Amino acid sequence: MSFDSLGLSQPILRAVESLGYTTASPIQEKAIPAVIEGRDVMAAAQTGTGKTAGFTLPLLENLSKGSKPRANHVRSLVLTPTRELAAQIQDSVVKYGANLPLTSHVVFGGVKINPQMQNLRKGCDVLVATPGRLLDLYNQNAVKFSQLEILVLDEADRMLDMGFYRDIKRILDLLPKKRQNLLFSATFSNEIRDLARGLVNNPVEVSVNPPNSTTNLVEQSVYVADKGQKPAILAKLIEQNNWQQVLVFSKTKHGANRLARFLEERDISALPIHGNKSQGARTKALEGFKTGKIRVLVATDIAARGLDIPQLPQVVNFDLPHVSEDYVHRIGRTGRAGETGKAYSLVCADEAKELFSIERLIGKLIERHELEGFKPVNEVPESRLDTRPIKPNKPKKAKTGHQDGQRSGGNSSGNKPANKNKRHSIKPGAGRSPSGSKEGNASSAPSRPSRRPRRTAKPTGPKS
Ligand code: AMP
Repeated sequence: MSFDSLGLSQPILRAVESLGYTTASPIQEKAIPAVIEGRDVMAAAQTGTGKTAGFTLPLLENLSKGSKPRANHVRSLVLTPTRELAAQIQDSVVKYGANLPLTSHVVFGGVKINPQMQNLRKGCDVLVATPGRLLDLYNQNAVKFSQLEILVLDEADRMLDMGFYRDIKRILDLLPKKRQNLLFSATFSNEIRDLARGLVNNPVEVSVNPPNSTTNLVEQSVYVADKGQKPAILAKLIEQNNWQQVLVFSKTKHGANRLARFLEERDISALPIHGNKSQGARTKALEGFKTGKIRVLVATDIAARGLDIPQLPQVVNFDLPHVSEDYVHRIGRTGRAGETGKAYSLVCADEAKELFSIERLIGKLIERHELEGFKPVNEVPESRLDTRPIKPNKPKKAKTGHQDGQRSGGNSSGNKPANKNKRHSIKPGAGRSPSGSKEGNASSAPSRPSRRPRRTAKPTGPKS
């Protein structure tokens, strides 16, 4: 579908056209009209689906019809877990809003707060923020929410994984009850549903599967293994194939730690990266991996999602993910431009169910191998391709209404159109991370390191 029929006005359509976008992605097709209508939206979508434009384009459309922000006020807030994502979203806001008289800023921790306070003095139409720094700014009276019309939670699952649950709840308490809410998350766990219950009102639900076309470009193989043999099999594969840079996915944080230690003990340099690691440790691991000092980076799915690493020759699934879509996402990390990537999965008998549903999702059986000297005692049952169509993984509807009386569509009523000529064009805030700055390569960074280990989300432990 072209962008013309989604309800976007000319200035936005021109910006989209100048970026070379000709057709709206599935998530954009569904989300854009709903947001413009003033509906709350709950979307299950990962990076790569075009989700950022899916919320930014209609957000700008709606804001272009409202009135100017007062000093220190923000009209819309995009909360996102990391400074890198915040900077990326801000870039998108600037690009998509190039022809609009709107202002935007980005704020995140780890950099001086004063320039951010100064930028916010005049107020802004779009504020992209990480939760901790936003609260710091609020506590210093630098940001006010009484004019807020739209809230976007981006990568909500990752924000919870990083221990931002309580910060998000505190922020929600500060916002006007009447507002539009957009919730984006790669997965819809119990925790996300719990968060959504107090947030969205009668939402339009949008769900798209990650693009799985990548699977055709990746050579995939399964190594059957007993659970306890997996570390040794991985070490042997690394040595035998002389892999110098391999990203390994682990289902759990502890598993990632254990595996990295095991490899280190065998003189294979390795570091884990996950939500319990300090920002310093994450940066060190990532830099070491990128520069070739570290051969193996053992990552959890959620940590890996924020990593800016170039495509790799191979990735290894040390454990299969519970959610089949994560498999597609993981193996999308491999395959340099024009080359076929390789994805290896170590699969034990307990993981047969996960393997079958992955094979069902990608529509083919993955070739199995057995590494010499590692014949599993517990055999992995034979696969049979399940060709029944897969229903999209819909986010569950949040229970009716709000405990706190929030209402959606706040922006769609009563706001007078602004005199656009009096407004200045959308421009980046000075708080942005300039490329090449010390934040540039840092991975997921809650803005207050002391908060990071806290986990208040309930009830089941987040997948990581
Ligand atoms: P996202 O899923 O938001 O991270 O977007 C992934 C990439 O797709 C970004 O580089 C966008 O610039 C690009 N993109 C988003 N929407 C479209 C579109 N409709 N056509 C082409 N590229 C797009």
